[in-house]
Amino acid sequence: MQVTIAGAGIIGLSIAWRLAQRGVRVVVRDKGRVAGEASWAGAGMLAPGGEFRSESRWTRLAIESLAEYGAFVEELTMATGMRIDYRVCGALELAMDEEEKKALDRPRPEGIVVEEVTAAGAGYFAPVAKDAIRAARWFPNEAVVDPRDMCAALAGACRALGVEIRENDAVARCEGPAVIASGAWASQIAGMEAAPRSFPVKGHLLGYRCKKESLPPIVRHGHHYALQRENGFTIFGSDERPDVWDSTPDPESARHLAEAASALLPRLLDRAPDEVWAGLRPGSTAGEPVVEQMPGKDIWLAYGHFRNGILLAPVTARLIAASIVSSLGRG
Ligand SMILES: Cc1cc2nc3c(=O)[nH]c(=O)nc-3n(C[C@H](O)[C@H](O)[C@H](O)COP(=O)(O)OP(=O)(O)OC[C@H]3O[C@@H](n4cnc5c(N)ncnc54)[C@H](O)[C@@H]3O)c2cc1C
Repeated sequence: MQVTIAGAGIIGLSIAWRLAQRGVRVVVRDKGRVAGEASWAGAGMLAPGGEFRSESRWTRLAIESLAEYGAFVEELTMATGMRIDYRVCGALELAMDEEEKKALDRPRPEGIVVEEVTAAGAGYFAPVAKDAIRAARWFPNEAVVDPRDMCAALAGACRALGVEIRENDAVARCEGPAVIASGAWASQIAGMEAAPRSFPVKGHLLGYRCKKESLPPIVRHGHHYALQRENGFTIFGSDERPDVWDSTPDPESARHLAEAASALLPRLLDRAPDEVWAGLRPGSTAGEPVVEQMPGKDIWLAYGHFRNGILLAPVTARLIAASIVSSLGRG
């Protein structure tokens, strides 16, 4: 039995790896190149505290995925010998006025670890504009990973187990056994009409070459966030433009983001960015990731991870691989 995976982003590659480890023959087909879309563009925050506001199945899965991440990265590193920039660096969430402070005080879903810190404490963790801070919270378990490292290692681990990865080879229709892991494009595949519709949500990121370790944790304020790679490259984001299919960066959006970056981290980001890029987050009309078997068919759906596909890759791969193996085993 051979399983086709439509999409070589972090979701398709993670599923392919888990399936191949369980002895399933896998072909991954991508309409473009490996990890050329959202999984290339993503910032790589592993931060359920900033993203999941209420109790739900996906909040629980996000917390599980964060807890599994270290082991996932270690297994991948052992399998490939490739370096992955992954660090449990914590996240600092800031409020600059009374309204934002109220939002910080709201109850968090169970399992999200959060601690109170003073403005002075926040300044100790990161080079933020301390005088502007009204309140701050610290999320000690949150982490960052470089999604490009992840995808390169996943592709390497897949190939080492015999997975065939075909680039420039679009899947036109659902023909099982198959996994539709085609991100924002999932609904363009024939046979997907009954499934929740996928759509793009364009987002920009700015990159600044900074001194190593000049921003240890993730910093977030409202819709904005900053994080740093191990080599000091600092990423600031982001915005959301639903239903825009063009991933070319827009200069006006970049200018707005750069202003926000210099207001939040004036000692670090008060200058023009060195790089600007954009990507298409995979939204879905389900309002949450679509990770399930199509009723009565040997087609599995794995798309719609929106702002959290890097975080949710380990748990998505675990769920889909287990479902496929048990279904094929029964068949
Ligand atoms: C600006 C920005 C910041 C982000 N920050 C974070 C973050 O900090 N943390 C986090 O967890 N997530 C983040 N995300 C979201 C994350 O990047 C995505 O949720 C994740 O990459 C989705 O992975 P995917 O594999 O489903 O989609 P993609 O990476 O888009 O992969 C889908 C693949 O399917 C291919 N494809 C499409 N149609 C077909 C077809 N017919 N046949 C074959 N192949 C096809 C595409 O070419 C593509 O390679 C961010 C995204 C953006 C844009």
